[in-house]
Amino acid sequence: MMPVANRVVVCLVAVALGVAELAPGPRRPRVVIVGGGLAGLSAAVEARRTSDVHVELVDKEPCLGGSSRLACDGISVLVAPADGGLSARIWPADGYELFVEDALRAGAGLADEALLRMLVRQSANVPAFVHSLGVRLGAAVRAPGHCRTRTLRPVEAVHSTERTLISALKDALRADPSVRVHTGVRVVDLLLRSDGSLAQVHFSPVAIVDPSAPDAPCKLEVPLDLCAAGAVLLDSSGRRFVDELAPCAKVAEAMLALPSRTATLLVDAPAVQAAGLANVLRSYEERGLVRRALGLDAVARTLGVDPLVLETEIEAYAVAQAWGVDPLGKTAFPTRLELSAEPGREAFLMSVTPALRGTLGGLRIDEDARVLAARGGPIVGLFAAGEVCGGVHGADCLPGNAVLECLVFGRTAGRTAALAARAAVAFDRATDDGER
Ligand SMILES: Cc1cc2nc3c(=O)[nH]c(=O)nc-3n(C[C@H](O)[C@H](O)[C@H](O)COP(=O)(O)OP(=O)(O)OC[C@H]3O[C@@H](n4cnc5c(N)ncnc54)[C@H](O)[C@@H]3O)c2cc1C
Repeated sequence: MMPVANRVVVCLVAVALGVAELAPGPRRPRVVIVGGGLAGLSAAVEARRTSDVHVELVDKEPCLGGSSRLACDGISVLVAPADGGLSARIWPADGYELFVEDALRAGAGLADEALLRMLVRQSANVPAFVHSLGVRLGAAVRAPGHCRTRTLRPVEAVHSTERTLISALKDALRADPSVRVHTGVRVVDLLLRSDGSLAQVHFSPVAIVDPSAPDAPCKLEVPLDLCAAGAVLLDSSGRRFVDELAPCAKVAEAMLALPSRTATLLVDAPAVQAAGLANVLRSYEERGLVRRALGLDAVARTLGVDPLVLETEIEAYAVAQAWGVDPLGKTAFPTRLELSAEPGREAFLMSVTPALRGTLGGLRIDEDARVLAARGGPIVGLFAAGEVCGGVHGADCLPGNAVLECLVFGRTAGRTAALAARAAVAFDRATDDGER
């Protein structure tokens, strides 16, 4: 079924498959949203907030949330709320260009600069949107690949940012009689053709290896805030091998070059406190994913490495920190890691490995989230946002930018789809009146 022919506007925010016929309404503008992840839910909320449209939200899974539920690194934005609320503090004037530069660098020449600039510009509205859902944002951290502190995490998040955002978005839709949710409904076809490609994938370098199921295909990701707060990565001999704050792709590449393809993430209690992740670490510990050790010798014993090697490494790191010159290129040292100087200092250890985090290829969209056909023009009535889209980020996506993309383009898609649906119904009415 063609969206416009039966006055359905389709908003693809999951995968590019299609839309089922869903009880066509008489004259009410209607938007069908395929996919109830972060992008789809944002689109649904925005469509309802900005227009009196009817929303049909379709998801193939029995519950909403998609892979967005697994993300945990917060949202990178241009504006940070000073108190987790609306009283926003604008970053320095160079903030916009620096954010764009960081994202373009990660994209390695493959990003869509116009869309990226729009993403960064509109990121300034995201804290207010998140706040309007009743989600408070905490202090910003400097996530890997970002040259500035600009990644925010919901205060209440236990493991996942998105679990908090997703439940807030679901709550916003739940009481709305104009929103119908169809779970367990897989969209199988669209009478439209589109020529996106699935070119790139992006990795999380720090997915946790569960000692009881090391080969489990689905892994939890360590919040990158922990790296941002001063965690170090060690190889099997107890030596650092990469700048922990380098772009994720670089860290992942370095880790995959290790014989075991895994590393140990070592973080001490002050860094955990600084990252506000004590609850997260506790929950990991309860699941057997984290080991604790008191002081350097205990850390060496737990890792099975030579204490002298580890001590030398930690001391070298302290020197790098003091001088701001690290042989591995690290330039930001948020907290001091001084296990050898303070023998009683508590440390946390996790085995980590790179894991697939998402895809970066897919449908091409314009700044109104309209899906572009192979020849370049927009496909009438079809909008997309989130991971189904390609090209926005290019070769790699910085932490917090995929979530940002869902919020910015998801809302854009919802808004423009609702407008298109209203325009289509208005056109029908005018045609009918003319015929009468
Ligand atoms: C472990 C992990 C960590 C991540 N960490 C970060 C991070 O640090 N920072 C960041 O910015 N991003 C991160 N991401 C990526 C980010 O979370 C995702 O890109 C984003 O949440 C995708 O949202 P989405 O709504 O586009 O897709 P999803 O959340 O995947 O939602 C898609 C929905 O579409 C549904 N669907 C699919 N096919 C069909 C069909 N045929 N019919 C009906 N429904 C269908 C699915 O069931 C799903 O519910 C991470 C992702 C993972 C998995």
